Amino acid sequence: MEKEINFKKSLGQNFIYDKNLLNSIIDMGDVENADTVLEIGAGAGTLTELLCERAKNVISFEIDKSLAVFLDRIANEHKNLQIYYQDFLKADLSKLNLKSARVVANIPYYITTPIIFKLVEHKESFKSMLVLVQKEVADRFAALPNSKNYGVTSVELQAIFDVSCPKIIKKTCFTPAPKVDSALVKLIPHNKFKKLNFEGFCDFVGKAFSMRRKTLFNNLKTFYEKDKILNALNKLNILEAARAENLSVENFVELYSLLN
Ligand code: SAM
Repeated sequence: MEKEINFKKSLGQNFIYDKNLLNSIIDMGDVENADTVLEIGAGAGTLTELLCERAKNVISFEIDKSLAVFLDRIANEHKNLQIYYQDFLKADLSKLNLKSARVVANIPYYITTPIIFKLVEHKESFKSMLVLVQKEVADRFAALPNSKNYGVTSVELQAIFDVSCPKIIKKTCFTPAPKVDSALVKLIPHNKFKKLNFEGFCDFVGKAFSMRRKTLFNNLKTFYEKDKILNALNKLNILEAARAENLSVENFVELYSLLN
């Protein structure tokens, strides 16, 4: 099967054929036989087919119509599979039946961020998301305060999800092998900050990290009155000399609500 495919690097086509690995990914995605699973980037359908065997319904997106030769065969054999040959980023997810669904996907890396933020927009539809991304991206998503990888995306994602990286997947596990290793990232909605205006919060986090070498106070003073910032920092026991990377996600949420 591998030989018949002209892998398109521009579409992020790095496929996985190892069934043991694919089944372990499905295990880590907590897929149960009553679940609906969304897959982004079906490729040759290796993960898709196993998902069909283990979930109630599978909805897969694949932009490359030339892969229909593999995927249509799977859809004929598994009536619980719906395939959309279209750009996932242009899909209207509200038209799909995604209540309490799970995401399990080896996504195309070149559009990791837009895919994640599209899923974030529809987070009420999902009880868990497990996506395979480049290891350095996974490190940023799951980073803790005071580490070099902790930044805007870590804070934004962790404000709405419990984020973990259950497994690193070596580049040699893919066909063709990409240049770097990958990691699974698991996102589980946590609802800790129920009234958070996520859009406004993301804007605020961007401001807080705008110049990494500057203090948080110096970054924020362009946007808020100095006294207001100092009072808020004081109230939260955050030092005036603190940098954005020193704040916990809770600190960010509290500071955002005090300043806005
Ligand atoms: N799931 C397969 C596997 O694990 O072997 C393939 C994964 S491969 C990393 C990503 C797949 O996403 C490719 O088949 C690629 O054609 C597809 N893809 C790329 N851009 C896409 C888009 N915008 N919408 C849907 N699929 C896309």
